[in-house]
Amino acid sequence: MSKDKSAKIPTPQPVRGTQDMLGDFADRFAHVVDTFDRVRRLYGYKRIEVPVIEPTAVFARSLGETTDVVSKEMYSFEDRGGESITLRPEFTAGIARAYISNGWQQFAPLKVATHGPLFRYERPQKGRYRQFHQLDAEVIGSDSPLADAELLVFADQLLKELGISEGVTLTLNTLGDAASRDAWRAALVEHFEAHRGDLSEDSLARLDKNPLRILDSKDPKDRPVADSAPDIDAYLTSEAQDFFGAVTAGLDAAGVAWERNARLVRGLDYYRHTAFEFVTDRLGAQGTVLGGGRYDGLIEALGGPPTAAVGWAAGIERLAMLVGDDVIDNRLDFVIAVEDDSQLALAMKMLAALRNGGFATEIVASGSPRKRFDKAAKIPARALVAIGMRDGVSYTNMRGDEELTIVANRTIRAL
Ligand code: ATP
Ligand code: MG
Repeated sequence: MSKDKSAKIPTPQPVRGTQDMLGDFADRFAHVVDTFDRVRRLYGYKRIEVPVIEPTAVFARSLGETTDVVSKEMYSFEDRGGESITLRPEFTAGIARAYISNGWQQFAPLKVATHGPLFRYERPQKGRYRQFHQLDAEVIGSDSPLADAELLVFADQLLKELGISEGVTLTLNTLGDAASRDAWRAALVEHFEAHRGDLSEDSLARLDKNPLRILDSKDPKDRPVADSAPDIDAYLTSEAQDFFGAVTAGLDAAGVAWERNARLVRGLDYYRHTAFEFVTDRLGAQGTVLGGGRYDGLIEALGGPPTAAVGWAAGIERLAMLVGDDVIDNRLDFVIAVEDDSQLALAMKMLAALRNGGFATEIVASGSPRKRFDKAAKIPARALVAIGMRDGVSYTNMRGDEELTIVANRTIRAL
């Protein structure tokens, strides 16, 4: 071993596809989460927390083997007890598992919301990470189209309150009920069989197991065949048509704009009836900011009772990329400059009093006392309070927002 003390210790690198955040982007990220938390209360969604780790079967069984997530993207490992564990690649399956594990049927219909990190082994690029974050909202135990409509109105209001609804379009489809889906599936198989030679290898594998997913393929080779495939309309039963009609009537009544995309399918196998995506062309290829739909078959697939459910998830990073700078206001209420160290105790008391009173306050009390005022003046704040000592007499100087100055004066007098 080398004894050279100057030999460099290799610095550990971040895991590929993960992000560290500080400053502007972290602020926008927090703004997205805060806005979500405020809006979900307006719609009566309860906060829920579920584990980051689940038994692999939770995702393998519910998402379907042929999905990209299960076949290529999961972070799975054996723990020390030999159990196969997976870092959650999405929220819905874990929430469905929790619903069954805890007997939450008693609360149905259950409206819940959460946010947090998710993990997918994808090719990292702009708007696509291996650890990313989602907002998530679900209604479990409701087969009413009003639940679908409410979730969409919720999503629409969220995007509006984030100030990003301009240039973001709600695209909507129905995948019908089981009868509609089966008939459509048969028509799709016929179409894809006729164009076998033009399909990618992945899609040839999907053809046997889940041909709907070919419509969702990102491989450019598949696009012409996918785009010319029959849409579902000719195969919808009248029940499925009525359900979709009730969802769109709810949206129209609430004033939510939408567009039909008759070939929209979702990447995951468990969707029925409503499927939707909010898309934008402002993020390049990663244009879907929010997606979801109805997944009436999922809870049963996990061994629970037949349970109707609908939900959506939105990528926080993608939303944060769209949010404008103007929404972030990091300005403090007060900044206190301590110009003489003998006044430090008074300044600390004032700092505590202001913060206790709900005012965002910072203090500048280090470095050369003569430079502290200028240093404090550079910190964005609505009012600046200078505290010092001149000729044996304590003084305070204030400037900035008048109302805040009154508060600070009152605080100092009380001290
Ligand atoms: P995509 O088509 O972009 O791969 P998806 O269909 O896999 O998306 P969902 O599983 O529906 O996406 O997840 C919902 C949302 O989560 C997406 O619309 C997107 O905003 C975000 N998202 C999904 N995967 C990633 C990722 N790897 N990095 C960042 N955000 C992501
Ligand atoms: Mg994906």
